[in-house]
Amino acid sequence: MEELKTILEVALKNTEDLHTPPPPEYYSHLIRDIETLGWNKIVYVDTGLSSVKLKAEDSRGRQHLITLKLNAKYPAEPPDCFVDFPVQFAVSWIPQSSLIDIYNQFLAALESLKEFWDAMDEIDEKTWVLEPENPTRSATMRRIAIGNNVSINLEVDPRHPAMLPECFFLGADHVVNPLKIKLNNNMHLWNPEVRLLQNLKEVLEIEFPSRIVLEKSDFSMDCGICYAYRLDGTVPDQVCDDPRCGQPFHQACLYEWLQSLPSSRQSFHVIFGECPYCNKPITLKMSMKKL
Ligand SMILES: [Zn+2]
Ligand SMILES: [Zn+2]
Repeated sequence: MEELKTILEVALKNTEDLHTPPPPEYYSHLIRDIETLGWNKIVYVDTGLSSVKLKAEDSRGRQHLITLKLNAKYPAEPPDCFVDFPVQFAVSWIPQSSLIDIYNQFLAALESLKEFWDAMDEIDEKTWVLEPENPTRSATMRRIAIGNNVSINLEVDPRHPAMLPECFFLGADHVVNPLKIKLNNNMHLWNPEVRLLQNLKEVLEIEFPSRIVLEKSDFSMDCGICYAYRLDGTVPDQVCDDPRCGQPFHQACLYEWLQSLPSSRQSFHVIFGECPYCNKPITLKMSMKKL
C-alpha cells in the first residue's frame, strides 16, 4: 500500500505539468485494475502512470514481459501492448475490460507459443547457434553450425513449429550439396510428433556439433580478406569450394577482390575468378541487394 501511495502522489504531481492531464477517473480505474491484477505482476510503472510493465511465467517456467502504454481515454480505449512475440498480439477489449483481461490474453498467447519456444530453446541449448547472436523470444530464424564453415539456416513457423522449417545451407558446394540431397530424399521421414532438432538430425543424417566439446570460434572462421568475422552485420558465408582450402570470405570482400582481378568474369550476378588463398576457381553468387 505504501508503494501505491507513493506512485499516486508522484503521478498526480507530474500531471500538474501536463497540458491535458487525464481525468481523475483514469487514475482510480487504473489503480483499481492494478489491485485486481495484483501488484506482484507489476515490474514497472512510470511516474505519470501511463506506462505499465507486467511479468508472467509460462507453463515451462520461462519469464515474459508485456508493456502497456495507456492513453487518457483508458479504459474506454485499450492500451497499446508491446510483447516479444514471433506473431502479432492483438487484444480484444471492451470499455468494461480491465488489465486482468489483457493479462489473461497474454497468458493464453504464451501457452499457444509454448511449443515454438520449446523447439527454439532446445536448439539454443544443444547446438551452436551462429545467428542471431542473442536470439530474442520473437526470433524465428537460427543459423546453426554443422561443421567447419558449414551451417544451416532455419526459418521456423511459430504457428507450426513441428513442421519442416524453411532451410538453406551455407558453405562450400561439396559439403552443402550432399546435405541438400539428404534433405530432399528424407523429407518424408519428418515426424511432426518429434521435436524439430531430432527431426533435423534424422533427415540430414548428421549430429550437430556438441556445445560440450567444441567452442563457437571453431565454426566462425574469420574472413580471409579482411581478417574479421563481422562486417556490416554480415558473416563470411562465401567459402572456397576446394576441399583442401575451404577458406571463408565475406561476400563484399570477395566481390571487391574478384572485381580487381582482370582474369575474373562476370555473368549476370555470378562472378567467376580465383580464390585469393589457393588460386583454384571460385564462384561468387551475389545476392541482389549487394549489386
Ligand atoms: Zn571480409
Ligand atoms: Zn581456396
